[in-house]
Amino acid sequence: MSFADILENNQRYADGFTDSGFDGVARAGIGLVTCMDSRIEPLAMLGLRLGDAKMLRSPGGRVTQDVLIGMVLGVHLLNVQRIMVIPHTRCAMGSGDDASIAENVLRSTGTDISGMVLGSTPDQAAGLHYDVQLLKTHPLLAGRAEVGGFLYDVDSGLLKQII
Ligand SMILES: [Zn+2]
Repeated sequence: MSFADILENNQRYADGFTDSGFDGVARAGIGLVTCMDSRIEPLAMLGLRLGDAKMLRSPGGRVTQDVLIGMVLGVHLLNVQRIMVIPHTRCAMGSGDDASIAENVLRSTGTDISGMVLGSTPDQAAGLHYDVQLLKTHPLLAGRAEVGGFLYDVDSGLLKQII
């Protein structure tokens, strides 16, 4: 399998590209954290477009160390003023624990990933509260950005604020 099809797609994209010359700041002042899930189009679902937001994706939309680093840089250098943490409905990372996901992987491919910390939680709401609190109280972020916790419904397209 090669990447030829995707490179062809990109050539067509570049042919119609008109957004050259943007700087790297978040024009709409938004930093967002959401899941890697393929059912989520982060910019489109928020009515944003290229250049508007700093975006970090992780399994489950959890605030991992890399997400924290990105948000610190976003707030201090890239005009991020509001941070949205957006897990979603029917997320494997928010409906089981690491052991159950590792069991699924073992059943699916025969590979044992049980030693890997995945960051899943069977209590998605608790995970969201924890992550929002982590961002709100982080010494390099506290008082510098508004932080909200949301839930995105992958079946209706609706976003609901939880925190
Ligand atoms: Zn997910």
